[in-house]
Amino acid sequence: MATDPASVLSLPKPAWAGDDVAMLYDMAVRFLEAEIAPRYEEFEKAEKFDRESWLKAGANGLLCASMPEKYGGSGGTYAHESVIAEALGHVGTDGFGIALHNAIVAPYILHYGSEEQKRKWLPRMATGELIGAIAMTEPGAGSDLQGVKTRAEKDGNQYRINGSKTFITNGQLANLIIVVTKTDPEKGAKGTSLIVVETDEVEGFERGRNLDKIGLKSNDTSELFFNDVRVPTANLLGSEEGQGFVQLMQQLPQERLLIGAQAISMIERALAVTIDYVKERKAFGKPILDFQNTQFKLAELKTEATVGRVFYDNCVARHIESGLDPVTASMAKYWLTDLQCKIVDECLQLHGGYGYMNEYPIARMYRDARVQKIYGGTNEIMKLLIARSL
Ligand SMILES: Cc1cc2nc3c(=O)[nH]c(=O)nc-3n(C[C@H](O)[C@H](O)[C@H](O)COP(=O)(O)OP(=O)(O)OC[C@H]3O[C@@H](n4cnc5c(N)ncnc54)[C@H](O)[C@@H]3O)c2cc1C
Repeated sequence: MATDPASVLSLPKPAWAGDDVAMLYDMAVRFLEAEIAPRYEEFEKAEKFDRESWLKAGANGLLCASMPEKYGGSGGTYAHESVIAEALGHVGTDGFGIALHNAIVAPYILHYGSEEQKRKWLPRMATGELIGAIAMTEPGAGSDLQGVKTRAEKDGNQYRINGSKTFITNGQLANLIIVVTKTDPEKGAKGTSLIVVETDEVEGFERGRNLDKIGLKSNDTSELFFNDVRVPTANLLGSEEGQGFVQLMQQLPQERLLIGAQAISMIERALAVTIDYVKERKAFGKPILDFQNTQFKLAELKTEATVGRVFYDNCVARHIESGLDPVTASMAKYWLTDLQCKIVDECLQLHGGYGYMNEYPIARMYRDARVQKIYGGTNEIMKLLIARSL
């Protein structure tokens, strides 16, 4: 029987993974194995998912698990979002952009939206009718978010938005986009505001190319253009303009922790498939697991993965308790994604030439892992944030 990524590390379950969280994990794995994994190659080729998969995920309780029930969610916590992200990693369907929608986009609306905004958008995000994206990055502003140029000018009871964004996850499918804009360019960070654009409701919005990436093929990543896009001033997130930068800083720890979930779950899957492979594959008349190098290498990787998992679980416990501090969230993001790339690379090596063949899952993990060190704030920026706490 194939090694289960969920138990490859022989660790006890953390206290935050109680019965309802464990049930959600099992449900997510079953759903992804039945509905998404069989079609994954199709989505990889199309370089995006289809709306039907989103609606099915919604019908199966995998969207907005941590949003309150009165807004159509399941009333859970980050623990629930974590196990959905982990299920995606364990099943090998990490290109399905639901984790970003659930644990990154929806929380902005929950935390900063008015009652009316929450009632308007969250229930439709929970069904999958609205697909979320967050558009921060621009061609001239990535790490340096203060350099955002997209302009939102007030015109009566509307904002007129002009600018362009790039590298936006879910960009081809999203119809609810939180756009990072400048409402007052003179004020720098204090002139930044988050404005929701419901793309089905506006004119002047254009999707650019679905960008050609080296990995995460099924996850659409796009340029977006805003040409005199008009939205009601009621689409501003927060009670007044200029709060966008603070809102981003408050939400980025959860985004970074979520990237940690993606990292540790792929690490566990990489170990599971590699353990199975080295038991099967023979060289010099014996399974390659019998070579001491293979044993030592896997012993090292399992040890490192265990350290990573214990750290991640501890971060989740702290996050649920009182919100993870930005410095520890940066540590989790940088360290776990570095570890992910290292472990996946070493696991690929143990596959020999087969590891370089796309038909083996480790090959896709190798391509998909790389971007984890870049998005959500590069690992260099994470180190800058950590260094500031010294
Ligand atoms: C697949 C993918 C999906 C993405 N999804 C989204 C999304 O949904 N929404 C969104 O808004 N963005 C998204 N991004 C963008 C991502 O967050 C940015 O690419 C990232 O923040 C880095 O910005 P940049 O690409 O402009 O690199 P740059 O900022 O140009 O950085 C280039 C290099 O310089 C280094 N560097 C920059 N500043 C410093 C410094 N002060 N000190 C030391 N080194 C520094 C960086 O670490 C990096 O190595 C995505 C990117 C990718 C590739």
